[in-house]
Amino acid sequence: MDPIALLLESHNEGRSFPPLAKPELLLVTCMDHRIALRLPENFAFVLRTGGANPDPVEPYLVYALARTGVRTVALVGHTDCAMSRPDLEALRTLPQGLEALYRPRIAGLAVGDPAAFVVRKARELEARLGVRAVPLLYRVEEHRLLRLEGKAALDPGHGLAACG
Ligand SMILES: [Zn+2]
Repeated sequence: MDPIALLLESHNEGRSFPPLAKPELLLVTCMDHRIALRLPENFAFVLRTGGANPDPVEPYLVYALARTGVRTVALVGHTDCAMSRPDLEALRTLPQGLEALYRPRIAGLAVGDPAAFVVRKARELEARLGVRAVPLLYRVEEHRLLRLEGKAALDPGHGLAACG
């Protein structure tokens, strides 16, 4: 079974699968507390970062792919992501030195539109690593995964223009 189809059936439909013989998917999603994925046992490597940004964890991603032969990556952005436009005012609660240190670094990790971001990053990973990379959007409102269409995701109002 296609690992993306398996992901959608397991999470969205709540279908049970027996533990897999070996991992078939590498999934990158946001560290947000509202994301709770239902995954079969032994199915996926999961990397969580702010905004589902694969860049800071790419060495882990590449190593896992090389070591296991997994050829499919799911990039799962989500609605209402705090890394879209980070609220740098929140950093005022940090001690002076830390605020100055982290403000530019956090600002530089802004992802903008979460759906457009994972679509773009998926294309970059495919081009750079030669793997299949599939962008998805996790709707925290309903806890459902939507498979994004690249073209639709780049249009305004993309959040509703998804399939699968
Ligand atoms: Zn997020």
